[in-house]
Amino acid sequence: MSGQQSAVVVIGGGPGGYEAALPAAQLGARVTVVEREGLGGAAVLTDCVPSKALIATADFMDRFSAAARIGVGFDGHDGDQGVQAHLAQVNDRIMRLAQAQSADIRDRLLAAGVEVIKGAGRIASPGVVEVATDITHVESGKEPAPSDEERSRHTRSLTADVILVATGARPRVLDSAVPDGERILTWQQIYDLKELPEKLIVIGSGVTGAELAHAYLGLGCAVTLVSSRERVLPGEDADAATVLEEVFRSRGMEVLNRSRAGGVVRDGDEVVVTLEDGREVRGSHALLAVGSIPNTADMGLEEAGVTLSDSGHIEVDRVSRTSVQGIYAAGDCTGVLPLASVAAMQGRIAIAHALGDAVAPLNLGRVSSNIFTDPEIATVGVSQADVDSGRVDARSVMLPLTGNPRAKMQNTKHGFVKLFARNGSDTILGGVVVAPRASELIFPITLAVANRLNVDQFSSTFTVYPSMSGSIAEAARQLHSVD
Ligand SMILES: Cc1cc2nc3c(=O)[nH]c(=O)nc-3n(C[C@H](O)[C@H](O)[C@H](O)COP(=O)(O)OP(=O)(O)OC[C@H]3O[C@@H](n4cnc5c(N)ncnc54)[C@H](O)[C@@H]3O)c2cc1C
Repeated sequence: MSGQQSAVVVIGGGPGGYEAALPAAQLGARVTVVEREGLGGAAVLTDCVPSKALIATADFMDRFSAAARIGVGFDGHDGDQGVQAHLAQVNDRIMRLAQAQSADIRDRLLAAGVEVIKGAGRIASPGVVEVATDITHVESGKEPAPSDEERSRHTRSLTADVILVATGARPRVLDSAVPDGERILTWQQIYDLKELPEKLIVIGSGVTGAELAHAYLGLGCAVTLVSSRERVLPGEDADAATVLEEVFRSRGMEVLNRSRAGGVVRDGDEVVVTLEDGREVRGSHALLAVGSIPNTADMGLEEAGVTLSDSGHIEVDRVSRTSVQGIYAAGDCTGVLPLASVAAMQGRIAIAHALGDAVAPLNLGRVSSNIFTDPEIATVGVSQADVDSGRVDARSVMLPLTGNPRAKMQNTKHGFVKLFARNGSDTILGGVVVAPRASELIFPITLAVANRLNVDQFSSTFTVYPSMSGSIAEAARQLHSVD
């Protein structure tokens, strides 16, 4: 199918959706994005962007706290005396920033000629999307404001050659821990807080739990992190997770390992978290970070023949095809890898495949990701578990950053660089960076993995002296085979 004659309807305006709409319009298709909340999706409005903005604020405060250690004081005080987060202002800034980002995305879509409809979409049949609109306002930038009558709820029917479902996911909640939006909170509700919690109990030590526990600790709040597993970040590199857990504890966070939360209730101005072994943890607020569930129910997907997994995710192949011709899916509703970058890539791939453009199937081996704690943890490619289990024939080198001159100057005490190289060919297959701004440092390793560079090509490339990237090149040098 070529873009020129095609009608593309995208359901969901997050990264999986809007990043697909743009190339679809560029290829000449008539494109409509149906979004029920706001453009940018949960990524921009409640999840990725707000959490990173909150962490940026916490990191800012951390730098004040660290100042005393490198000999800097303020007005005769040492260190962080008097540094406080005014949470109402912090959250207000974050929400304005998210709204501005959402507005930018809308402008980009409208400028590309994409029609944006505010409403909830469902598949009536393959090739037909029904939209329940609260406001029948088609945002092409030309229409007059909708009349009162137009505002009344009604349904629009859109025909499509290609349907892309990119409806995302929402926080999982427990029957025994029902969020009230005041003291028992999901990660989407925390930006309504006007004051810093006295003691926050974060339930769940995956990426979201760890990042937000780090953020609130940095903002000056007492934090308890409840982890059901041996250590925090159970799905991540064990060496990296160990470093992070040590840092958390050394900064005063209480980390409860092997402690599964059974339920959370309010007790006046407190919350009580009951652990499955009967222990109770009390705090002023609880934050649930126990995973997400896909937004795929009541959307006509199964009726249209789209196969869902037991968890409710849409099953897709590496070019984002579902089980029904002409229906594609991208992002968190597919459960492939819950990252904004992956959602966007899946969406673009779907459009390229559907409209006959050049397409490279999704390759998860090249996805770099980052955990925005301090230090940050960035990874790409194969993991230590792949190597240890023998799934991948590779060797690794791990270099602590304590020997790096730039790290010493910056008072960086924790972190390392780890590289994996295939035995025989010496090709770089992956890496882990635990460091401040690891999210930036992972890029050369990602480039090496994507372009199959070997350790000698990598280590013979100049790095700046002194620099953190010097340690990455040094790790590659240590992987040089001598036979
Ligand atoms: C706290 C947190 C922090 C994160 N940080 C990062 C990060 O730093 N980097 C990163 O890469 N990823 C991050 N992620 C993951 C990232 O947010 C998701 O992977 C990303 O949002 C997925 O994009 P999406 O388009 O699939 O879904 P979403 O962003 O959820 O967008 C889906 C959209 O579909 C709309 N929708 C749903 N149903 C319908 C319907 N029937 N009709 C119309 N519209 C509908 C929703 O309103 C929503 O706007 C984070 C996640 C969380 C929870």
